[in-house]
Amino acid sequence: MDLLNTLVDKGLRRELPTREEALAVLATSDDELLDVVAAAGKVRRQWFGRRVKLNYLVNLKSGLCPEDCSYCSQRLGSKAEILKYTWLKPDEASQAAAAGVAGGAKRVCLVASGRGPTDRDVERVGKTIEAIKEQNEGVEVCACLGLLSDGQAERLKDAGADAYNHNLNTSEATYGQITKTHTYADRVDTVQKAHAAGLSACSGLIAGMGESDEDLVDVVYSLRELDSDSVPVNFLIPFEGTPLAKEWNLTPQRCLRILAMVRFVCPDVEVRIAGGREVHLRSMQPLALNIANSIFLGDYLTSEGQAGQADLDMIADAGFEVEGAGTTTLPAHRADALAAARAAAGQGPCGSSAAEAGCGSACGGCSGHEAVPAQAPVAASAPVTAGAPAQAPAGDVRPDLVAVRRRGAGTDLAPNA
Ligand code: SF4
Repeated sequence: MDLLNTLVDKGLRRELPTREEALAVLATSDDELLDVVAAAGKVRRQWFGRRVKLNYLVNLKSGLCPEDCSYCSQRLGSKAEILKYTWLKPDEASQAAAAGVAGGAKRVCLVASGRGPTDRDVERVGKTIEAIKEQNEGVEVCACLGLLSDGQAERLKDAGADAYNHNLNTSEATYGQITKTHTYADRVDTVQKAHAAGLSACSGLIAGMGESDEDLVDVVYSLRELDSDSVPVNFLIPFEGTPLAKEWNLTPQRCLRILAMVRFVCPDVEVRIAGGREVHLRSMQPLALNIANSIFLGDYLTSEGQAGQADLDMIADAGFEVEGAGTTTLPAHRADALAAARAAAGQGPCGSSAAEAGCGSACGGCSGHEAVPAQAPVAASAPVTAGAPAQAPAGDVRPDLVAVRRRGAGTDLAPNA
């Protein structure tokens, strides 16, 4: 297939595909799907070999968010029966993180619900990062705390953070239909602040919210332009009690095409399968490892993932290997660029291996502190792009696959790692 040969050539050269080529990947037939996966696999192996990076989420503060992100179980007015708790203490967070590291995770992602951190929150997270790094030598830490104010990215970097996650989630054109309490531009600004501070930027998307193929291509092109080191691809977990509870738009085949498109547009960055992996890829998860080079181990922020051991078994069975702490994730040219950005920001190069980051589950980013008035949610059955029907085929409605997290951080039960 000429399209795939072209995309492989471009991916190996880090050349940007045309929008038409990216759209064509999303439009391939089921008969062509294995060829698409194989082509994306060639690009993946060029930059990341057969390594799979494991990341581990610690939800520092769950629920009670005043923001209104339609996809999020922690949003204002959410009826989802998720765990709700305020900030974990540094030693509690460190204990939770240690379980993930023991399971093979090389990065810990510290996530807190809310519009954005206060300076006191940044200080608190700084102490948490310190505790985690003291107790887990060589671990990378990514923070995901919402919109950043001036100076906060630098303070997180000084406290030892390697990376900062803030997802764009969807295209600029449709952002206003997903969230009303902050803007797409706010999100871009925070990713740029993280970059400028010398933190590795992690920013991704959520697929399955009713968006069009054009929206997906738009957001992935924006992520390439932002030069994120890591791109988490979330597949919407349609939580009961949220406005998007009825949006079951994804099939495993659609998820594979989306991942392949992301790999072709962002060939040399960490493509991470994030929230919704088990719910939407289901038995196709091992195939997706041929495209993505990174996953979350165990549970997500507010939902449960498959057993950590099942993740490890899947990686081994599919012929991949867990990336070790001594290995640099990013290809040399990106790792060097990150080290230069750190130096330019006035800090030394990262002590651990080169970093990126991400936060998964349905929480595509994090923000919020002042209460906002309740508003009409996006109609659950309406596609996000007004007037343009979603092009994805309907997926199976499988609420039975969505399990609210009841263990790990914020509970007395052992975490899943
Ligand atoms: S995504 Fe983050 S900011 Fe938005 S509602 Fe959820 S926790 Fe709040």
